Amino acid sequence: MENAGVNLIQFEHIKKVFDGDTLVVEDFNLEVKKGEFVTFLGPSGCGKTTILRMLGGFEIPTAGKILLNGEDISKLPPYERPINTVFQKYALFPHLNVYDNVAFGLKLKKVDKKTMDEKVRHALEIVDLEGFEKRSIQTLSGGQQQRIAIARAIINEPEVLLLDEPLSALDYKMRKEMQLELKNMHKKLGITFIFVTHDQEEALTMSDKIVVMADGEIQQIGTPEEIYNEPKNLFVADFIGESNIFKGEMVGTRKASFCGRVFDCVDDYEKSTIIDAVVRPEDVELVPEEEGMISGEILASDFKGTFYIVAVLSGKNEIEVHSLKYYEPGSRVGINIAPDSIHIIPYDTSINHYEGVVGEYVEGEGLRVSFADFEWFVNPKDIFGEGEIVEGARVEASFTPDNAEISDDAEAGVVTGNIISFIYVGDHYRYTVRSKSEEDYIVDDEDLWNQDDYVSVNIPKNKMSYRLVGEQ
Ligand code: ATP
Repeated sequence: MENAGVNLIQFEHIKKVFDGDTLVVEDFNLEVKKGEFVTFLGPSGCGKTTILRMLGGFEIPTAGKILLNGEDISKLPPYERPINTVFQKYALFPHLNVYDNVAFGLKLKKVDKKTMDEKVRHALEIVDLEGFEKRSIQTLSGGQQQRIAIARAIINEPEVLLLDEPLSALDYKMRKEMQLELKNMHKKLGITFIFVTHDQEEALTMSDKIVVMADGEIQQIGTPEEIYNEPKNLFVADFIGESNIFKGEMVGTRKASFCGRVFDCVDDYEKSTIIDAVVRPEDVELVPEEEGMISGEILASDFKGTFYIVAVLSGKNEIEVHSLKYYEPGSRVGINIAPDSIHIIPYDTSINHYEGVVGEYVEGEGLRVSFADFEWFVNPKDIFGEGEIVEGARVEASFTPDNAEISDDAEAGVVTGNIISFIYVGDHYRYTVRSKSEEDYIVDDEDLWNQDDYVSVNIPKNKMSYRLVGEQ
Protein backbone atom coordinates (compact mmCIF):
# COMPACT_ATOMS: atom_id res chain seq x y z
CA MET A 1 0.00 0.00 0.00
CA GLU A 2 1.29 3.41 -0.99
CA ASN A 3 1.07 4.99 2.45
CA ALA A 4 1.74 1.94 4.56
CA GLY A 5 3.79 2.79 7.60
CA VAL A 6 2.56 6.36 8.01
CA ASN A 7 0.75 7.17 11.24
CA LEU A 8 -2.65 8.57 10.43
CA ILE A 9 -4.08 8.73 13.92
CA GLN A 10 -2.29 9.14 17.23
CA PHE A 11 -3.99 9.00 20.62
CA GLU A 12 -1.71 10.68 23.12
CA HIS A 13 -2.35 10.25 26.86
CA ILE A 14 -6.11 10.31 26.43
CA LYS A 15 -8.15 10.49 29.60
CA LYS A 16 -11.92 10.62 29.90
CA VAL A 17 -13.84 11.33 33.08
CA PHE A 18 -17.64 11.53 32.98
CA ASP A 19 -19.64 13.66 35.42
CA GLY A 20 -16.53 14.77 37.28
CA ASP A 21 -15.79 11.44 38.92
CA THR A 22 -16.36 8.46 36.60
CA LEU A 23 -12.95 7.60 35.22
CA VAL A 24 -13.54 5.58 32.04
CA VAL A 25 -10.24 5.89 30.19
CA GLU A 26 -6.87 6.71 31.66
CA ASP A 27 -3.70 7.37 29.68
CA PHE A 28 -4.77 5.73 26.41
CA ASN A 29 -1.98 5.75 23.80
CA LEU A 30 -2.28 4.27 20.33
CA GLU A 31 -1.03 4.80 16.81
CA VAL A 32 -3.04 3.80 13.76
CA LYS A 33 -1.46 3.62 10.33
CA LYS A 34 -3.07 4.77 7.11
CA GLY A 35 -5.22 2.07 5.57
CA GLU A 36 -5.20 -0.25 8.60
CA PHE A 37 -8.18 -2.25 9.83
CA VAL A 38 -7.97 -1.79 13.58
CA THR A 39 -10.41 -3.40 15.99
CA PHE A 40 -11.06 -2.35 19.58
CA LEU A 41 -12.05 -5.49 21.41
CA GLY A 42 -13.13 -5.80 25.01
CA PRO A 43 -15.99 -6.63 27.34
CA SER A 44 -18.96 -4.35 27.72
CA GLY A 45 -18.10 -1.21 29.65
CA CYS A 46 -14.33 -1.32 29.01
CA GLY A 47 -14.37 2.08 27.31
CA LYS A 48 -14.02 1.15 23.62
CA THR A 49 -17.08 3.10 22.47
CA THR A 50 -15.91 6.09 24.47
CA ILE A 51 -12.58 6.04 22.57
CA LEU A 52 -14.41 5.76 19.26
CA ARG A 53 -16.75 8.62 20.17
CA MET A 54 -13.78 10.83 21.05
CA LEU A 55 -12.25 10.07 17.65
CA GLY A 56 -15.54 10.83 15.92
CA GLY A 57 -15.94 14.09 17.82
CA PHE A 58 -18.99 13.09 19.85
CA GLU A 59 -17.05 13.35 23.12
CA ILE A 60 -14.17 15.64 24.07
CA PRO A 61 -11.25 14.09 25.99
CA THR A 62 -10.78 15.32 29.56
CA ALA A 63 -7.02 15.35 28.89
CA GLY A 64 -4.66 14.34 26.10
CA LYS A 65 -4.64 14.81 22.35
CA ILE A 66 -5.95 13.03 19.28
CA LEU A 67 -3.82 13.77 16.23
CA LEU A 68 -4.94 13.17 12.66
CA ASN A 69 -2.14 13.58 10.13
CA GLY A 70 -0.17 15.25 12.92
CA GLU A 71 -2.83 17.85 13.74
CA ASP A 72 -4.74 17.96 17.00
CA ILE A 73 -8.41 17.32 16.22
CA SER A 74 -9.58 16.56 19.76
CA LYS A 75 -11.72 19.67 20.00
CA LEU A 76 -13.10 19.83 16.45
CA PRO A 77 -16.82 19.16 15.98
CA PRO A 78 -17.68 15.89 14.14
CA TYR A 79 -18.52 17.58 10.81
CA GLU A 80 -15.08 19.19 10.61
CA ARG A 81 -13.33 15.82 10.85
CA PRO A 82 -12.70 13.67 7.74
CA ILE A 83 -14.22 10.79 9.68
CA ASN A 84 -17.57 9.07 9.33
CA THR A 85 -19.32 6.68 11.68
CA VAL A 86 -21.53 3.67 11.13
CA PHE A 87 -23.54 2.94 14.23
CA GLN A 88 -25.01 -0.27 15.61
CA LYS A 89 -28.52 0.84 14.69
CA TYR A 90 -28.57 1.80 11.06
CA ALA A 91 -30.08 5.26 11.67
CA LEU A 92 -31.47 5.49 8.14
CA PHE A 93 -34.34 7.80 7.19
CA PRO A 94 -37.31 5.40 6.77
CA HIS A 95 -39.34 7.82 4.63
CA LEU A 96 -36.53 8.35 2.07
CA ASN A 97 -35.56 5.81 -0.59
CA VAL A 98 -32.10 4.28 -0.88
CA TYR A 99 -30.81 7.00 -3.23
CA ASP A 100 -31.88 9.85 -0.97
CA ASN A 101 -30.48 8.13 2.11
CA VAL A 102 -27.09 7.54 0.50
CA ALA A 103 -26.97 11.00 -1.12
CA PHE A 104 -27.94 12.79 2.08
CA GLY A 105 -24.44 14.06 2.92
CA LEU A 106 -23.85 15.25 -0.66
CA LYS A 107 -27.13 17.15 -0.76
CA LEU A 108 -26.05 19.14 2.29
CA LYS A 109 -22.90 19.99 0.37
CA LYS A 110 -24.95 21.07 -2.69
CA VAL A 111 -23.16 18.75 -5.11
CA ASP A 112 -24.48 18.83 -8.72
CA LYS A 113 -26.90 16.09 -9.82
CA LYS A 114 -24.56 14.34 -12.26
CA THR A 115 -21.72 13.99 -9.75
CA MET A 116 -24.24 12.93 -7.13
CA ASP A 117 -25.67 10.16 -9.35
CA GLU A 118 -22.18 8.94 -10.11
CA LYS A 119 -21.12 8.91 -6.44
CA VAL A 120 -24.28 7.15 -5.26
CA ARG A 121 -23.84 4.52 -7.97
CA HIS A 122 -20.22 3.99 -6.94
CA ALA A 123 -21.05 3.78 -3.20
CA LEU A 124 -23.82 1.24 -3.89
CA GLU A 125 -21.41 -0.77 -6.00
CA ILE A 126 -18.93 -0.92 -3.12
CA VAL A 127 -21.59 -2.29 -0.75
CA ASP A 128 -22.86 -4.66 -3.44
CA LEU A 129 -26.30 -3.10 -3.86
CA GLU A 130 -26.11 -1.78 -7.43
CA GLY A 131 -29.49 -0.79 -8.82
CA PHE A 132 -31.15 -0.41 -5.40
CA GLU A 133 -31.54 3.40 -5.77
CA LYS A 134 -35.33 3.48 -5.94
CA ARG A 135 -36.03 0.87 -3.25
CA SER A 136 -37.74 1.99 -0.08
CA ILE A 137 -35.81 1.39 3.13
CA GLN A 138 -38.59 -0.68 4.71
CA THR A 139 -38.30 -3.33 1.98
CA LEU A 140 -34.66 -4.08 2.80
CA SER A 141 -33.30 -6.80 5.12
CA GLY A 142 -31.23 -5.87 8.17
CA GLY A 143 -28.00 -6.68 6.35
CA GLN A 144 -28.99 -4.58 3.35
CA GLN A 145 -29.95 -1.67 5.59
CA GLN A 146 -26.57 -1.83 7.29
CA ARG A 147 -24.88 -1.81 3.86
CA ILE A 148 -26.87 1.31 2.94
CA ALA A 149 -25.70 2.89 6.18
CA ILE A 150 -22.12 2.08 5.14
CA ALA A 151 -22.69 3.47 1.63
CA ARG A 152 -23.99 6.68 3.21
CA ALA A 153 -20.92 6.88 5.46
CA ILE A 154 -18.38 6.37 2.66
CA ILE A 155 -19.96 8.67 0.08
CA ASN A 156 -18.12 11.69 1.45
CA GLU A 157 -14.84 9.82 1.02
CA PRO A 158 -13.77 10.03 4.64
CA GLU A 159 -10.18 9.20 5.57
CA VAL A 160 -11.41 7.09 8.43
CA LEU A 161 -14.53 4.99 8.83
CA LEU A 162 -15.61 4.25 12.40
CA LEU A 163 -17.77 1.19 12.85
CA ASP A 164 -19.43 0.86 16.26
CA GLU A 165 -20.60 -2.76 16.57
CA PRO A 166 -22.24 -2.43 13.14
CA LEU A 167 -23.08 -6.11 12.83
CA SER A 168 -24.49 -6.83 16.27
CA ALA A 169 -28.14 -6.44 15.21
CA LEU A 170 -27.79 -9.04 12.44
CA ASP A 171 -28.48 -12.76 12.74
CA TYR A 172 -25.55 -15.18 12.83
CA LYS A 173 -25.46 -16.06 9.12
CA MET A 174 -25.89 -12.50 7.91
CA ARG A 175 -23.24 -11.40 10.36
CA LYS A 176 -20.70 -13.88 8.96
CA GLU A 177 -21.48 -12.72 5.43
CA MET A 178 -21.16 -9.06 6.33
CA GLN A 179 -17.81 -9.68 8.07
CA LEU A 180 -16.35 -10.86 4.77
CA GLU A 181 -18.02 -8.06 2.85
CA LEU A 182 -16.67 -5.44 5.22
CA LYS A 183 -13.18 -6.84 4.77
CA ASN A 184 -13.60 -6.64 1.00
CA MET A 185 -14.93 -3.10 1.22
CA HIS A 186 -11.92 -2.16 3.29
CA LYS A 187 -9.64 -3.50 0.56
CA LYS A 188 -11.55 -1.76 -2.23
CA LEU A 189 -11.71 1.59 -0.46
CA GLY A 190 -8.16 1.58 0.92
CA ILE A 191 -9.20 3.83 3.83
CA THR A 192 -8.65 3.29 7.54
CA PHE A 193 -11.32 1.28 9.35
CA ILE A 194 -11.73 1.43 13.11
CA PHE A 195 -14.08 -1.23 14.31
CA VAL A 196 -15.50 -1.82 17.78
CA THR A 197 -16.72 -5.21 18.93
CA HIS A 198 -16.95 -7.39 22.02
CA ASP A 199 -16.96 -10.50 19.82
CA GLN A 200 -13.47 -12.00 19.77
CA GLU A 201 -14.14 -14.26 16.80
CA GLU A 202 -15.24 -11.25 14.74
CA ALA A 203 -12.08 -9.36 15.74
CA LEU A 204 -9.82 -12.28 14.87
CA THR A 205 -11.43 -12.77 11.45
CA MET A 206 -11.45 -9.18 10.29
CA SER A 207 -8.59 -7.12 11.66
CA ASP A 208 -5.02 -6.24 10.75
CA LYS A 209 -4.49 -5.08 14.30
CA ILE A 210 -6.46 -5.78 17.47
CA VAL A 211 -6.42 -3.54 20.52
CA VAL A 212 -7.61 -5.61 23.48
CA MET A 213 -9.07 -3.42 26.21
CA ALA A 214 -10.27 -4.02 29.75
CA ASP A 215 -11.20 -1.60 32.51
CA GLY A 216 -10.33 1.45 30.38
CA GLU A 217 -6.80 0.25 29.67
CA ILE A 218 -5.07 -1.38 26.72
CA GLN A 219 -4.11 -4.95 27.59
CA GLN A 220 -2.38 -5.85 24.35
CA ILE A 221 -1.96 -4.59 20.80
CA GLY A 222 -1.12 -7.08 18.08
CA THR A 223 -2.09 -9.00 14.98
CA PRO A 224 -4.85 -11.60 15.44
CA GLU A 225 -2.19 -14.35 15.47
CA GLU A 226 -0.07 -12.59 18.10
CA ILE A 227 -3.06 -11.97 20.33
CA TYR A 228 -4.21 -15.59 20.06
CA ASN A 229 -0.87 -17.37 20.26
CA GLU A 230 1.08 -15.04 22.53
CA PRO A 231 -1.36 -13.47 24.99
CA LYS A 232 0.57 -11.03 27.16
CA ASN A 233 -1.45 -11.47 30.30
CA LEU A 234 -4.16 -13.60 31.85
CA PHE A 235 -6.97 -11.30 30.82
CA VAL A 236 -6.07 -11.60 27.12
CA ALA A 237 -5.52 -15.37 27.40
CA ASP A 238 -8.93 -15.77 29.00
CA PHE A 239 -10.84 -13.31 26.80
CA ILE A 240 -9.51 -14.43 23.41
CA GLY A 241 -10.59 -17.97 22.61
CA GLU A 242 -10.91 -20.67 25.22
CA SER A 243 -8.00 -21.24 27.60
CA ASN A 244 -6.91 -23.54 30.37
CA ILE A 245 -4.85 -21.50 32.80
CA PHE A 246 -2.70 -23.31 35.36
CA LYS A 247 -0.77 -21.73 38.17
CA GLY A 248 2.80 -22.96 38.41
CA GLU A 249 6.49 -22.27 38.68
CA MET A 250 9.58 -22.49 36.48
CA VAL A 251 11.77 -25.28 37.81
CA GLY A 252 14.58 -25.32 35.25
CA THR A 253 15.52 -24.35 31.71
CA ARG A 254 12.29 -24.55 29.69
CA LYS A 255 10.72 -26.63 32.42
CA ALA A 256 7.50 -25.57 34.08
CA SER A 257 5.77 -27.26 36.96
CA PHE A 258 1.96 -27.23 37.06
CA CYS A 259 -0.89 -29.68 37.58
CA GLY A 260 1.38 -31.68 39.85
CA ARG A 261 4.19 -32.44 37.40
CA VAL A 262 6.99 -30.93 35.32
CA PHE A 263 6.30 -30.16 31.66
CA ASP A 264 8.81 -29.25 28.97
CA CYS A 265 7.92 -25.97 27.32
CA VAL A 266 9.45 -23.58 24.78
CA ASP A 267 9.30 -20.33 26.76
CA ASP A 268 12.12 -19.70 29.17
CA TYR A 269 12.08 -17.71 32.40
CA GLU A 270 14.33 -17.69 35.41
CA LYS A 271 14.08 -20.65 37.77
CA SER A 272 11.53 -20.16 40.59
CA THR A 273 9.54 -17.58 38.59
CA ILE A 274 5.86 -17.90 39.47
CA ILE A 275 3.95 -18.43 36.23
CA ASP A 276 0.60 -19.11 34.68
CA ALA A 277 0.68 -21.75 31.96
CA VAL A 278 -1.90 -21.22 29.21
CA VAL A 279 -3.01 -24.22 27.16
CA ARG A 280 -5.73 -24.05 24.50
CA PRO A 281 -8.38 -26.81 24.68
CA GLU A 282 -7.60 -27.89 21.12
CA ASP A 283 -3.97 -28.50 22.16
CA VAL A 284 -4.73 -30.94 24.98
CA GLU A 285 -4.42 -34.56 23.90
CA LEU A 286 -6.42 -37.31 25.58
CA VAL A 287 -4.79 -40.75 25.64
CA PRO A 288 -5.20 -44.01 27.58
CA GLU A 289 -4.59 -43.32 31.28
CA GLU A 290 -1.22 -45.13 31.47
CA GLU A 291 0.16 -43.15 28.50
CA GLY A 292 -0.61 -39.69 29.88
CA MET A 293 1.75 -37.23 31.56
CA ILE A 294 -1.08 -36.62 34.00
CA SER A 295 -4.42 -38.35 34.40
CA GLY A 296 -7.95 -37.37 35.28
CA GLU A 297 -11.60 -38.29 35.37
CA ILE A 298 -14.06 -37.30 32.62
CA LEU A 299 -16.72 -34.99 34.04
CA ALA A 300 -18.68 -34.30 30.84
CA SER A 301 -18.57 -34.58 27.04
CA ASP A 302 -20.72 -31.99 25.26
CA PHE A 303 -21.29 -32.27 21.52
CA LYS A 304 -20.59 -29.02 19.64
CA GLY A 305 -21.29 -29.99 16.03
CA THR A 306 -17.78 -30.65 14.81
CA PHE A 307 -16.16 -31.66 18.14
CA TYR A 308 -16.85 -32.46 21.79
CA ILE A 309 -16.02 -30.18 24.67
CA VAL A 310 -14.68 -32.62 27.24
CA ALA A 311 -14.21 -31.57 30.86
CA VAL A 312 -11.59 -33.54 32.78
CA LEU A 313 -10.86 -33.26 36.49
CA SER A 314 -7.18 -33.75 37.27
CA GLY A 315 -6.39 -33.15 40.93
CA LYS A 316 -8.08 -29.82 41.71
CA ASN A 317 -7.84 -28.61 38.11
CA GLU A 318 -10.73 -28.79 35.70
CA ILE A 319 -9.28 -29.05 32.20
CA GLU A 320 -11.22 -28.27 29.04
CA VAL A 321 -10.37 -30.35 25.99
CA HIS A 322 -11.66 -30.18 22.41
CA SER A 323 -11.86 -33.70 21.10
CA LEU A 324 -13.27 -35.43 18.04
CA LYS A 325 -14.10 -38.42 20.22
CA TYR A 326 -16.76 -38.86 22.88
CA TYR A 327 -15.53 -39.81 26.36
CA GLU A 328 -17.84 -41.42 28.87
CA PRO A 329 -18.30 -39.35 32.05
CA GLY A 330 -16.77 -41.18 35.00
CA SER A 331 -14.07 -42.90 32.91
CA ARG A 332 -10.37 -42.15 33.40
CA VAL A 333 -7.99 -40.75 30.80
CA GLY A 334 -4.39 -39.71 30.38
CA ILE A 335 -3.56 -36.14 29.34
CA ASN A 336 -0.62 -35.02 27.21
CA ILE A 337 0.44 -31.49 26.35
CA ALA A 338 3.19 -30.82 23.78
CA PRO A 339 5.92 -28.30 24.74
CA ASP A 340 4.94 -25.78 22.04
CA SER A 341 1.30 -25.88 23.18
CA ILE A 342 2.23 -24.39 26.53
CA HIS A 343 2.37 -20.61 26.63
CA ILE A 344 4.00 -19.25 29.77
CA ILE A 345 2.96 -15.94 31.33
CA PRO A 346 5.26 -14.90 34.17
CA TYR A 347 3.66 -13.45 37.29
CA ASP A 348 3.13 -9.74 36.77
CA THR A 349 5.21 -8.19 39.53
CA SER A 350 3.78 -4.74 38.79
CA ILE A 351 0.36 -5.54 40.29
CA ASN A 352 -0.79 -4.85 43.84
CA HIS A 353 1.68 -2.11 44.73
CA TYR A 354 0.42 0.72 46.95
CA GLU A 355 2.23 3.79 48.12
CA GLY A 356 1.90 4.88 51.72
CA VAL A 357 3.38 7.28 54.23
CA VAL A 358 4.85 6.40 57.62
CA GLY A 359 3.22 8.22 60.53
CA GLU A 360 3.92 8.21 64.27
CA TYR A 361 4.78 5.25 66.47
CA VAL A 362 1.96 4.42 68.89
CA GLU A 363 2.93 2.42 71.96
CA GLY A 364 1.17 -0.93 72.03
CA GLU A 365 -0.10 -0.57 68.44
CA GLY A 366 2.89 -0.08 66.18
CA LEU A 367 3.88 2.29 63.45
CA ARG A 368 1.02 4.05 61.71
CA VAL A 369 1.18 3.75 57.91
CA SER A 370 -1.43 5.48 55.71
CA PHE A 371 -2.38 4.44 52.19
CA ALA A 372 -4.97 5.87 49.77
CA ASP A 373 -7.61 3.39 50.95
CA PHE A 374 -6.58 2.29 54.41
CA GLU A 375 -4.40 2.95 57.40
CA TRP A 376 -2.91 0.40 59.78
CA PHE A 377 -0.26 -0.21 62.37
CA VAL A 378 2.83 -2.10 61.36
CA ASN A 379 5.78 -3.55 63.20
CA PRO A 380 8.54 -0.97 62.48
CA LYS A 381 10.95 -3.84 61.76
CA ASP A 382 8.86 -4.83 58.73
CA ILE A 383 9.78 -1.51 57.13
CA PHE A 384 12.99 -0.28 58.69
CA GLY A 385 14.54 -3.56 59.86
CA GLU A 386 16.99 -2.71 62.64
CA GLY A 387 17.34 0.85 61.31
CA GLU A 388 15.90 4.07 62.70
CA ILE A 389 12.23 4.89 62.19
CA VAL A 390 11.76 7.87 59.88
CA GLU A 391 8.39 9.57 60.19
CA GLY A 392 7.19 10.81 56.80
CA ALA A 393 9.10 8.14 54.90
CA ARG A 394 7.32 6.85 51.81
CA VAL A 395 6.86 3.13 51.50
CA GLU A 396 5.56 0.84 48.83
CA ALA A 397 3.53 -2.09 50.08
CA SER A 398 2.73 -5.13 47.97
CA PHE A 399 1.07 -8.52 48.22
CA THR A 400 0.50 -11.41 45.85
CA PRO A 401 -3.09 -12.25 44.83
CA ASP A 402 -3.05 -15.66 46.54
CA ASN A 403 -2.35 -14.03 49.89
CA ALA A 404 -5.60 -12.06 50.08
CA GLU A 405 -9.26 -13.02 50.35
CA ILE A 406 -12.61 -11.59 49.40
CA SER A 407 -15.51 -11.20 51.81
CA ASP A 408 -18.98 -9.71 51.54
CA ASP A 409 -18.60 -8.36 55.08
CA ALA A 410 -17.30 -4.80 54.73
CA GLU A 411 -15.78 -4.99 58.22
CA ALA A 412 -13.84 -8.16 57.47
CA GLY A 413 -11.39 -6.62 55.04
CA VAL A 414 -8.88 -3.83 54.88
CA VAL A 415 -10.31 -2.24 51.72
CA THR A 416 -13.76 -2.21 50.11
CA GLY A 417 -14.62 -1.87 46.45
CA ASN A 418 -16.48 -3.33 43.50
CA ILE A 419 -15.45 -6.32 41.46
CA ILE A 420 -14.76 -4.86 38.02
CA SER A 421 -13.58 -8.05 36.30
CA PHE A 422 -12.56 -11.63 36.93
CA ILE A 423 -11.10 -14.61 35.17
CA TYR A 424 -11.11 -18.33 35.87
CA VAL A 425 -7.61 -19.62 36.55
CA GLY A 426 -7.45 -23.43 36.77
CA ASP A 427 -8.76 -24.10 40.27
CA HIS A 428 -9.75 -20.60 41.37
CA TYR A 429 -10.86 -17.16 40.17
CA ARG A 430 -8.76 -14.02 39.94
CA TYR A 431 -10.71 -10.87 40.78
CA THR A 432 -9.94 -7.20 40.25
CA VAL A 433 -11.55 -5.10 42.97
CA ARG A 434 -11.55 -1.33 42.37
CA SER A 435 -11.78 0.91 45.42
CA LYS A 436 -13.40 4.33 45.59
CA SER A 437 -10.02 5.98 45.16
CA GLU A 438 -9.58 4.05 41.85
CA GLU A 439 -6.91 1.68 43.21
CA ASP A 440 -7.12 -1.90 41.92
CA TYR A 441 -6.65 -4.90 44.21
CA ILE A 442 -6.08 -8.24 42.50
CA VAL A 443 -7.15 -11.20 44.59
CA ASP A 444 -7.36 -14.97 44.05
CA ASP A 445 -10.41 -16.60 45.57
CA GLU A 446 -12.00 -20.01 45.17
CA ASP A 447 -15.56 -18.73 45.53
CA LEU A 448 -17.55 -17.34 42.62
CA TRP A 449 -18.47 -13.68 43.04
CA ASN A 450 -20.26 -11.54 40.48
CA GLN A 451 -19.15 -8.55 38.47
CA ASP A 452 -20.07 -5.31 40.32
CA ASP A 453 -20.38 -7.09 43.71
CA TYR A 454 -19.43 -4.74 46.53
CA VAL A 455 -16.87 -6.65 48.58
CA SER A 456 -14.04 -6.21 51.00
CA VAL A 457 -10.50 -7.40 50.50
CA ASN A 458 -8.74 -8.93 53.43
CA ILE A 459 -4.95 -8.69 53.26
CA PRO A 460 -3.28 -10.37 56.23
CA LYS A 461 -0.74 -8.01 57.76
CA ASN A 462 2.04 -10.57 57.71
CA LYS A 463 1.55 -11.13 53.97
CA MET A 464 2.24 -7.53 53.04
CA SER A 465 5.82 -6.71 52.14
CA TYR A 466 7.30 -3.21 52.26
CA ARG A 467 9.96 -1.32 50.42
CA LEU A 468 11.17 2.17 51.31
CA VAL A 469 10.84 4.50 48.33
CA GLY A 470 11.91 7.83 49.82
CA GLU A 471 11.19 10.52 52.35
CA GLN A 472 8.66 13.29 52.14
P1 ATP B 1 -20.36 -1.43 25.39
O1 ATP B 1 -19.87 -2.53 24.51
O2 ATP B 1 -21.31 -1.91 26.43
O3 ATP B 1 -20.82 -0.20 24.67
P2 ATP B 1 -17.86 -0.10 25.87
O4 ATP B 1 -16.61 -0.86 26.11
O5 ATP B 1 -18.04 0.46 24.54
O6 ATP B 1 -19.10 -1.00 26.27
P3 ATP B 1 -18.30 2.50 26.88
O7 ATP B 1 -19.61 2.64 26.21
O8 ATP B 1 -17.17 3.26 26.33
O9 ATP B 1 -17.89 0.99 26.98
O10 ATP B 1 -18.51 2.86 28.40
C1 ATP B 1 -17.47 2.77 29.36
C2 ATP B 1 -17.98 3.24 30.72
O11 ATP B 1 -18.28 4.64 30.65
C3 ATP B 1 -19.27 2.58 31.17
O12 ATP B 1 -19.15 2.28 32.54
C4 ATP B 1 -20.33 3.62 30.92
O13 ATP B 1 -21.38 3.49 31.84
C5 ATP B 1 -19.57 4.91 31.11
N1 ATP B 1 -20.13 6.00 30.31
C6 ATP B 1 -20.19 6.06 28.96
N2 ATP B 1 -20.76 7.20 28.54
C7 ATP B 1 -21.08 7.90 29.66
C8 ATP B 1 -21.69 9.18 29.92
N3 ATP B 1 -22.09 9.98 28.91
N4 ATP B 1 -21.85 9.54 31.19
C9 ATP B 1 -21.43 8.75 32.22
N5 ATP B 1 -20.84 7.55 32.04
C10 ATP B 1 -20.68 7.11 30.80
